[in-house]
Amino acid sequence: MTAMPPTLQRGERRREAAAPPVARRRSPAPRPRQVDVALLVVALGGGATVGSALISETASQLRAAGGVAMLLGNLTGLVGTYLALVMFLLVSRLPFVERVLGQDGLLRWHRKLSPWPISLIVAHAILLTVAYAQATHNGFLRQVGQFVSGYPGMLTAFVGFGLFVAVAVVSIYSIRRRLRRETWWAVHLAMYAAFALAFAHEVVLGPSFVGHPVAQVLWSAAWAATAGLVIAFRFGLPLVRSLRYGLRVDHTREEANGVTSIVLRGRNLERLAVSGGQFFEWRFLARKMWWQAHPYTLSARPQPPFLRLTVQAVGDHSSAVATLPKGTRVLLEGPYGAFTTYAKRHPRVAIVAGGVGVTAARALLEDLGEHSEPFVLLRARTEADLPLVEEVRKLVEDRRGTLKVVTGTRREVPADKVAALLPELRRRDVFVSGSEDFVTAVRAALAKRRVPLSAIHWEEYAL
Ligand SMILES: Cc1cc2nc3c(=O)[nH]c(=O)nc-3n(C[C@H](O)[C@H](O)[C@H](O)COP(=O)(O)OP(=O)(O)OC[C@H]3O[C@@H](n4cnc5c(N)ncnc54)[C@H](O)[C@@H]3O)c2cc1C
Repeated sequence: MTAMPPTLQRGERRREAAAPPVARRRSPAPRPRQVDVALLVVALGGGATVGSALISETASQLRAAGGVAMLLGNLTGLVGTYLALVMFLLVSRLPFVERVLGQDGLLRWHRKLSPWPISLIVAHAILLTVAYAQATHNGFLRQVGQFVSGYPGMLTAFVGFGLFVAVAVVSIYSIRRRLRRETWWAVHLAMYAAFALAFAHEVVLGPSFVGHPVAQVLWSAAWAATAGLVIAFRFGLPLVRSLRYGLRVDHTREEANGVTSIVLRGRNLERLAVSGGQFFEWRFLARKMWWQAHPYTLSARPQPPFLRLTVQAVGDHSSAVATLPKGTRVLLEGPYGAFTTYAKRHPRVAIVAGGVGVTAARALLEDLGEHSEPFVLLRARTEADLPLVEEVRKLVEDRRGTLKVVTGTRREVPADKVAALLPELRRRDVFVSGSEDFVTAVRAALAKRRVPLSAIHWEEYAL
């Protein structure tokens, strides 16, 4: 019989001993080619969108009063809306894309892209109002009034536009920083409503669609498919998985200063495909907690019927999980994250974890082979702040690796010193996990030591 996993404690071990050994299922490997194909499809869609806007006016329409503003208004509207569709796809958590880019990568792209649809759609609203005002010799505001009262779909489009601008303003970094994450998330949801409200006016009035039933059908199909993907992957799949696994809190256990493991019990967990280093969005159905989902990494690969996460108390949610009563129902969304051994390019790795970043490091180690000789560096202020050290030690020993625990303040042990302790940097992939500050500093220190970016993999415990 194989040795008992160290994650489990005495009571759990008895139950585990009675259970047959379980074949672990890893999450499917990332397939970058599939993402390349998806990018090609998106680029072709973009080309078709621009093309349909450019040919929407005849030469005489272009020369007429308001003709140029009309063309530009149509172009900015179509391209802005198309880019918004791409942004929705990016946050739909399409599994084959998420596996390659990770959730942080998807969000990075989502944020990079976001100024474009915002400015293009605002430009669209202004340009088309100017175009119609020029064509009908109206003033700007009078034209707005006529739009709202006399054109089909325009009243809802205006409400949608108002919502859109409000969310865009709230999304400005300095304002967003002041909001609670949950408030920010709720406000963000209004974006879906904004685009749903604006949809009718696009196909009913848009020059690219009026009299072009094929374009109408294709545009509607693209939006319907995007809405379907968002509903399926953000809401449907998490619900199905949560029902399938029926997770409940089994017990909690203090691991270090302010750090608690939450052990969950469920069914069918042998079917859960997850790789070491991945995380889930967890929703605990307890008072004051059910309405928010937070990301926490599995601190060990599943050991059916148990799952474990290990949480450092930094705020309301992470403090409350330590006091969850046994039997609390848990919903999960995921697994997410590209911080897995699939990312490695070299046979050997160095793993660097700051504080509670050890959760990802601990689970990642489980996916490394017996003779993988990992070098693992755990970093914390004091040893008492560091959870799961003994488990990591055992996993490192089993893989003939080396463990180094480094303690001290940031000033005593800066990131440069951490990087200097890592051996054979040219011949290893480096996996870094922990707080945003820690990960950023270690990445910069590694870059100074000329470790290629492709060999550095990281998970920041912040969004
Ligand atoms: C991919 C990932 C994996 C993580 N894994 C772990 C883990 O294994 N163990 C662990 O202890 N922590 C982990 N975290 C961090 C954890 O999600 C936050 O500490 C927790 O959500 C804070 O919530 P709070 O209400 O307690 O604190 P708050 O007072 O809300 O916030 C404290 C800090 O956490 C950040 N934060 C708050 N809510 C979220 C959220 N929903 N998503 C991301 N950051 C947030 C805030 O920006 C702030 O910096 C992980 C974060 C990410 C992004």
